[in-house]
Amino acid sequence: MNMKRVLSAALALILIICALSGCGTPADENNAGADSPQSDAPMEVQEPENTVASDIRDNLGDAPLSSFTVDVTLDPASHSASVSQTLNYVNSTGGTLDNIYLNIIPEYFASQGGGTDVASVTVEGPSLELSQVKGTVYELVLPNPLASGGSITIDMDYTVRIPNIENRFGWQEGIYNLGNFLITPSVWENGQWACQPYVDLGDAFYTDLADYAVTIHVPDGWSVAATGTADGSGTYRAERVRDFIFCASDSFKTLEAETDGIRVLVYYRDDMLVTAARTMETAKNALTLFNKAFGKYPYPTLSLVLSGLTGGVSGTEYPSLVMVGPEIPLEALDQPGFATEGEQNSYRTELDRTVVHEIAHQWFFGIVGNDQIRYPWLDEGICRFSELMYLDAYPPEEPQAEWTYSLEELLADYNTMVVEEGYGAGTLNRSLYDWIESVPEDYGDVYTLGASLLLAMRELIGTDDFNSALRQYVDEFAWGFVTPEGFRDYWNSVGDFTSLFESYGLK
Ligand SMILES: [Zn+2]
Repeated sequence: MNMKRVLSAALALILIICALSGCGTPADENNAGADSPQSDAPMEVQEPENTVASDIRDNLGDAPLSSFTVDVTLDPASHSASVSQTLNYVNSTGGTLDNIYLNIIPEYFASQGGGTDVASVTVEGPSLELSQVKGTVYELVLPNPLASGGSITIDMDYTVRIPNIENRFGWQEGIYNLGNFLITPSVWENGQWACQPYVDLGDAFYTDLADYAVTIHVPDGWSVAATGTADGSGTYRAERVRDFIFCASDSFKTLEAETDGIRVLVYYRDDMLVTAARTMETAKNALTLFNKAFGKYPYPTLSLVLSGLTGGVSGTEYPSLVMVGPEIPLEALDQPGFATEGEQNSYRTELDRTVVHEIAHQWFFGIVGNDQIRYPWLDEGICRFSELMYLDAYPPEEPQAEWTYSLEELLADYNTMVVEEGYGAGTLNRSLYDWIESVPEDYGDVYTLGASLLLAMRELIGTDDFNSALRQYVDEFAWGFVTPEGFRDYWNSVGDFTSLFESYGLK
């Protein structure tokens, strides 16, 4: 289904009424992070809570997490990585475990030259075998039952073959992207292992929090961008993250800045300096905005990698590292006759939205986790909505190209289709598997439907109340997983969204 661009008469009327009655969302009501001219004036009224960056609630406390200790050597000559991995797995399932399911995602790419050759798996004893359950999901039968609350050490040695593809897992022209190369445990839920093989749509990942210490060896002269913070000896440490990625290149250059105490790094190659500079400015703005709106970003570093290798998508998210691959790098805009002024501005806005979207995922997917395979709307919807929050706070340069649509208008239009025309019920909650089997080319609706729901919710209870509740939503689900039921019940405790949720199939 194509996006509908023409507002229905009824919706147009609603918008006019809203404009007249002030129930819309003018920028100055919604720019929690913007440098507004009034920001230095003495405050006469107390600001809403989330105009100040506050710490995200620690729902975990001292609960032990599984931890990875990894030594990995990248060998560009053979396009492979040798991995020695020690996983200290903590049984937090509440019951005794006889087996563990593991995800080996590189195996999905076997037909393109990728894969994982496992040399040995040991659990304090002789080598064990992994057996394939389904697709990229494997089973390790434990030599002894693992009691609730106990932990075991699983040592694995393996070689990862890296395919020559434009992907978050792949290599090209001196850049290696090692997304999802580690062997990671599945999530235990509702009394069983989540058995969800990787598929090539969206972000087919569902993982628990863990701590990582990964020592990365690359050839002399190469540099690395990775999840976490380097300790100076090639070891990257990251705590409370859902995944670990590194990118390596023989020609990375770096921009570095600090905002709100967070070290921001942009990795780029020579031909991308203009794009890198814009990426840095947008990233700093987004961190400032989202620290206030969602709670303080909890990691010391945020890295943005302009790899240009994200395989047909403009960006992808990992904990404390995002990849950005703009379709049109800003450098191209300087070519005579390439683009009008409006088109140039629109391409800049497209880049901004990608950067902002992937940074918003640090909170939604990263801190507030969700099953990205079964319920991708839970993080994609709110990240698309975060683009709207950013555009409200940092309006794009004018003029914009004629083909640029107003995100707010699009979301409102989608809401009309859902509420008045029935589109959306049964669509919002589709899994990646459902989308692949039905209309994968319309998968983008997950983003738009999720965001249109949030916009409609904001209009229902007003921007101030919505923003305040959104900040509390992060605290409610931080460091765990939100489900559609959890989302529904939380928001229905804030306001009466029953009828709206029913329209969207959230019953
Ligand atoms: Zn996304």
